[in-house]
Amino acid sequence: MLLFTPGPTPVIEPIRQAMSEPTIHHRTPEFEAIFAQAREGLKNLINMPEVLMLASSGSGAMEACVCTFAQSKILSVNSGKFGERFGKIAKAHHIPYEEIINEWDTPVSIESVMEILKKDQSIDAFCIQMCESAGGLRHPVESIAQAIKAYNPRIVVIVDAITAMGVEKIDTTHIDALIGGSQKAFMLPPGLSIIGLSSYAVDLANQRDVGFYFNLKTELKNQSQNTTAWTAPTTIIIGLTKYFDIVKQNGGIEHIYTQTKARSLATHKALESLGLKIFPKTPALAMNTIYDEKNASAIRKILKNDFDLNIAGGQDKLKTSLFRINQMGMIPLNKSTWVVNAIELALDKLSLRRFDGLGNKIFLETYYQLNG
Ligand SMILES: *Cc1c(COP(=O)(O)O)cnc(C)c1O
Repeated sequence: MLLFTPGPTPVIEPIRQAMSEPTIHHRTPEFEAIFAQAREGLKNLINMPEVLMLASSGSGAMEACVCTFAQSKILSVNSGKFGERFGKIAKAHHIPYEEIINEWDTPVSIESVMEILKKDQSIDAFCIQMCESAGGLRHPVESIAQAIKAYNPRIVVIVDAITAMGVEKIDTTHIDALIGGSQKAFMLPPGLSIIGLSSYAVDLANQRDVGFYFNLKTELKNQSQNTTAWTAPTTIIIGLTKYFDIVKQNGGIEHIYTQTKARSLATHKALESLGLKIFPKTPALAMNTIYDEKNASAIRKILKNDFDLNIAGGQDKLKTSLFRINQMGMIPLNKSTWVVNAIELALDKLSLRRFDGLGNKIFLETYYQLNG
């Protein structure tokens, strides 16, 4: 079955092989050298002064950031399942919070964020998704972060970039905590989360010393020495160093960004040419999200049964109205064209549109225009 869900993504063969070596102990010079390599790779990728790796899925890093960086009150943007999670974490820890609730297809505006921050001086942390994966929505995070810092640099800007890290170049100038996860663009198994930190965030984490397992002060002390407070997920970190090797061998990260963008926009145009409707008003590059209340589930079913292809549906209220196609990681062109083709064939099977190969024509035309 071809896995085309926006996380987890397929683990490519060279990474699987790198992770199949016998387990090494985490308190050894051998692993410390690997850890140092992974740290360097991540710091270069996100262009931040400090980075931490935690043994958890992405939500663990979200919880660590909320608990460490919000003392009085959080403002969070809730435009889907993942935005909602920041509020749920705050609630679980009895941290006061306010949410801006947007339709899942609609990006939050800078004005609405600034209005609340100016009204409520107690807010000391702001949380948002770079790409809200529930609807494939890209928020204008960099501009919001810049506006917040211009207004009050003490407000901590926490960004869930789990479906943006490794997908597109992120301007981290005004971001304090940037969260990533292994199972998306890094093409690794789930189980490793990442937090990029600004120097302001490093200072706060050291002053505050919050929690036990997810104590960022403890991790900063250890990870700056290329070790971890607890047993490190050695296998995934070995896979991460392999990922950076592969990126280098394939022309560097900028080249991967170009290819990802070309693939994502080409799929977008191809699906539109088949009469399908893109759901978000500002689509993220990480995935293509299609709204079809009547046929989304039937299309997914045909893809699974007839074409051995697993794409994601929607979540919650949009469970059966959406389908989502992954664009994260290094996806071979023949697989991307196969997805577009299979969708066009599914539309034919449902008698919604006669197959004429238009999807792949538009896909390839657009792709070679953008990545020629
Ligand atoms: C996948 C994802 C997460 C991570 O959730 P986990 O299941 O905890 O790994 C968080 N935020 C976004 C936007 C995601 O796409």
